[in-house]
Amino acid sequence: ENIIEIKDLKKGYDNGKIKALNGMNLNVKKGEFISIMGPSGSGKSSLLNMIGGLDVADEGTINVAGIDMMKTKNLNKFRSKEIGFVFQMHNLIPNLTVVENVEIPMYETNTSSKDMRKKALALLKSVGLEDKVDQKPTKLSGGQRQRVAIARALVNNPSIILADEPTGSLDSKTGEVILNLLKDLHAKENVTLVMVTHEPYVGNMAERIVTVLDGKCLSDKKTSEST
Ligand code: ADP
Ligand code: ADP
Repeated sequence: ENIIEIKDLKKGYDNGKIKALNGMNLNVKKGEFISIMGPSGSGKSSLLNMIGGLDVADEGTINVAGIDMMKTKNLNKFRSKEIGFVFQMHNLIPNLTVVENVEIPMYETNTSSKDMRKKALALLKSVGLEDKVDQKPTKLSGGQRQRVAIARALVNNPSIILADEPTGSLDSKTGEVILNLLKDLHAKENVTLVMVTHEPYVGNMAERIVTVLDGKCLSDKKTSEST
């Protein structure tokens, strides 16, 4: 069963002068862990943005978790229900505490504030940050902030996690901690994990590597991690 189906997807910028996606095809099965790799400017972020409903494509078809992303107008509900974002762009809010940051996506749901706090604290514990819950994000290291982002991504039990360079700004040891966290998560929660990276050793942690070039899928390979 495919949770993501993308066919002939096109997205241009600057009145079409830039073709960020140029006939992209990609199917992802429910529960898969896939890496998207490719050089800078090849369309990786654009692809993630379309999957997460942060931007709309110009042509082609894209269905995510049963939603037609080309036709659906209000994607806020879809995003908060189905997608967990671990994006560097989606930064933590500096004047909120760690636990308050994790609660943000739950405001789109009917969760009581007591339950929100309970859920956020449980997730922060699961990423090893129980002693940082009342700190401001500015007091945390890069790896700790990334763990807050992961806890926040999980808070509404999304069916898909989109991670854009989750190890990007981290030293290799911290990056490994974050990757193992994502891997564990995938193993335990049966969540679909789509990760953009340009680091081969990071990409190899996935079950499948899709290489993107000039807005198209260049290759699609199973890794040794796949079962
Ligand atoms: P990658 O993530 O692989 O680096 P991107 O998807 O960010 O690639 O970018 C693909 C191409 O589209 C690049 O040439 C980039 O400069 C361009 N691009 C991406 N987003 C925008 C935007 N919002 N406005 C204009 N150009 C963009
Ligand atoms: P990454 O480091 O993941 O490749 P980028 O730094 O290329 O990401 O892009 C970050 C965000 O900025 C993306 O969501 C992309 O859509 C947007 N972006 C990229 N290139 C441009 C551009 N030339 N003009 C405006 N926005 C852009």
